[in-house]
This record gives sequence, structure tokens and C-alpha cells, in this order.
Amino acid sequence: MDLMFSDDLVAFRAEVRAWLESNRPKWRFQPYYTEDGLAQHLEWEARLFAAGYSAPGWPKEFGGLGLDHWHQLIYDEEYARLNLPERVNKMGLLHGGPTVMAHGTPEQQEAWLPGILNNSDIWCQGFSEPDAGSDLAGLRTTGRIEGDQLVLNGQKTWTSFGVIATKMFALVRTDREAPKHRGISFVILDLDTEGVEVRPLRQLHGHAGFAEVFLTEAAVPLANVVGPLNEGWRIAQTSLKLERGMGRGTHTKMLRTVDEIARRLGADPDTGSLERLGSHRAWAFAYEQATYELTDILSRGRDEGALPSVLKLRLSEILTGIREEERNLLGERAEQIPAGPPEAPLPPTQREYWHARAGEIYAGTTEIQKNIISETALGLPREPRP
Ligand SMILES: Cc1cc2nc3c(=O)[nH]c(=O)nc-3n(C[C@H](O)[C@H](O)[C@H](O)COP(=O)(O)OP(=O)(O)OC[C@H]3O[C@@H](n4cnc5c(N)ncnc54)[C@H](O)[C@@H]3O)c2cc1C
Repeated sequence: MDLMFSDDLVAFRAEVRAWLESNRPKWRFQPYYTEDGLAQHLEWEARLFAAGYSAPGWPKEFGGLGLDHWHQLIYDEEYARLNLPERVNKMGLLHGGPTVMAHGTPEQQEAWLPGILNNSDIWCQGFSEPDAGSDLAGLRTTGRIEGDQLVLNGQKTWTSFGVIATKMFALVRTDREAPKHRGISFVILDLDTEGVEVRPLRQLHGHAGFAEVFLTEAAVPLANVVGPLNEGWRIAQTSLKLERGMGRGTHTKMLRTVDEIARRLGADPDTGSLERLGSHRAWAFAYEQATYELTDILSRGRDEGALPSVLKLRLSEILTGIREEERNLLGERAEQIPAGPPEAPLPPTQREYWHARAGEIYAGTTEIQKNIISETALGLPREPRP
């Protein structure tokens, strides 16, 4: 199937491509969690912002170009095609900000959204806790109302971009008597609030962008609750669906990666690698078409149902399959680590492999996506809920 884009979208693609190609960074950036790396990312993103390309799909009043879902998709495809640096504020751009757009008051939107596009605030997501990952509704961080303040106590973990973030969108329990999916609120907090401690977490493969965040009598304005008090579970579904569904050019990245591996390592009909890479490419193409379907659904304002969970499930399977084939073709070379300090990041092949594997966990594990699909799309019996 070959989808035809409108003349307007074709022209927009040419415009974006020309701008990105002539303005793209000329070297690979250091990781964002290093001082130099963060400065490089911020300088690049400031240029995107000045050109209106921070998030073209956001409304003009918040710093976007006010374009529709299809224009945003075209922009994301072009960004991914050139393998440009991952955005440091992706938590705000992809889920936190759009959730505030959907459920926040005009005052909240005006106060917080422009800062995401110009990076004056970097957002992170505070959902998971040491004993609440898949069972997210079992979270224990509390929010106690005192006058016009919400006083937070608890611990968040696996906070991506936590080491550079200035704001967190978090889920906290505001009614301990209510059933566990109720009594939760969605709140925005400044990470420099007294009583907030951010501790960096370095992973075995060298990545040091995660943090765990400790909250001890941290008082935030009650006015920072997004949506009605105690209805945070419903608000969080908007954020989670956005996180699972819209991969920001992920399909382009998949297709580009398969082609690049075939070129670099060879696709051989005798060893079966041609057939396997062809199969991965077919899955990547199917993922692209499903992304277009989701874009169409969102453009029409229709309910996306379980499609974000289907995309999330397939994303991790396809990316892992591609990276496993790369390791297969590399043989022993896949395990080699060049000499360097122990804290040096892993070589790209290994980093990408482990990042693909992490796709089976973040934004809800593979098993959780299967539960959602079976219950909401296939009508199978629900898991028992206390
Ligand atoms: C790269 C990465 C980035 C992340 N970034 C963030 C972030 O920015 N903010 C944030 O809040 N969190 C983040 N997380 C945390 C992530 O959301 C959790 O790790 C995830 O939800 C799983 O929770 P858990 O680790 O506690 O595993 P558990 O929930 O303990 O699960 C362990 C295993 O049991 C299975 N399991 C659990 N319950 C069920 C069930 N009901 N049915 C079937 N199987 C089940 C799971 O599938 C899994 O295989 C990130 C994680 C990763 C890997």
C-alpha cells in the first residue's frame, strides 16, 4: 500500500527536510546527562525552537506552529530519517504537556506549556515507585491537603531525565480510604521544592540519566493538581496512551535501521539473514501503517481504543528482533567493548540492543499491554481487581 500525502503535506516535508538538513548538528552529541552534552542538546533545541520546529503540532499560543497531527507526523519522520539527537524534554513534549493541554485549566496551560517548548523547564514523569510498577494503582506516595497546599511524602523511581529535569508530573494518593484506582491525583511539582531530593541512578551499561526522587514533606500548591482531585488515574490514562502510541518517528527509525544493518553487515540469502531482515522490514512497514492509522484516528478525534497498547507491544518486539539480528550478524564482535574507563557508555550496537530490550518494560511491560489488549479489545475476562 502506498499512501498518498496531500500536496500541502508534501510541500511541508520538503520544507522541513531542507531546514533540518542545512541546520543539523555536524557532530554526535555527548550524552545529555553530562555537562557538555546537555549544553549541546540545549543549543540545538534552542535553534529548533527559534525556527518554530520545537513541536510544530502544538498550538501557536504555547510556541508551536498550530499544525495538525499529520504535519507533526511528517516532521517526526524527517527528524528520525536524519537520526537527529533525542529531545531532552520528550517527557514534557510527548506526554506531560499534551496531558495538561487535555485536562489542565487555562491558567495551568499558560503557566507551564510554553516552558516545555523553550526548555526553560524540563519535565520528567513520576509514576513508578519501588513497589508500584505494573501495579501502578498500588502507589504509596501520599498527598496530604493542608490549606491551599498538597504535602507530598514518598519515593518515585526509574525517573527518566530525572537528573536534568526541573518539573515532574506525578501520581500521588490523596484519599487513602478510596478503592486504589480512585483516590489518586495527578500533580505537577517543581523539583527544587524543599523536601525533594533527586538521586541519580547509573545503569550497568553506563547510562546515567535515570534518577530516584524522594519526597519528604514537600509542599506544592493545591492549584498544581491537574483535573479534579482524586481523579488522577483517569488523567494518567491520557498520558500513558500518548506514551505508548506516538513513537515520534519510531517507524522511520525501524526502517532506516534495518536498511543500514543490511548495507553494513550484508543480507545473505545463503545464511538466511536476507530472509530474516526482510521479515523485520515487513514488520516495520506494518508498524508504520498502524502509526498512520493512529494518526488518522486522532485527527478525526475518535477513540484510539487499545491501538496504543498494540503499537507499544509491537515496538519492543520489532526493535528487539532487529537488534538481535544485528548481534547475530556481528557474531563475537557484538560482545567486544573497546578499552576505556569503566563508566564510558557502551558501544552503540550494545547500547541500542539493551535499549530495545528495555522497550519490553517501560511505559508498561509487554505482559501489561497484553492484558490491556485482551481485556479492552478482545473482551476476554478481566484480571481480578481488589
Ligand atoms: C528504560 C525505562 C525507562 C523508564 N522511565 C520511567 C519514567 O520516566 N517514569 C516512571 O514513572 N517509570 C519509568 N520506568 C519504570 C517502568 O514504568 C516500570 O519498570 C514498569 O512499569 C514495570 O514495573 P516494575 O519494574 O516494578 O516491574 P514489575 O511490575 O515488578 O513486573 C515484574 C514482572 O512481572 C510481570 N507482571 C507484573 N504484573 C503482571 C500482571 N498483572 N500480569 C502479567 N504479568 C505481570 C511484568 O510484566 C514483569 O515481567 C522506566 C523503565 C524503564 C525500563
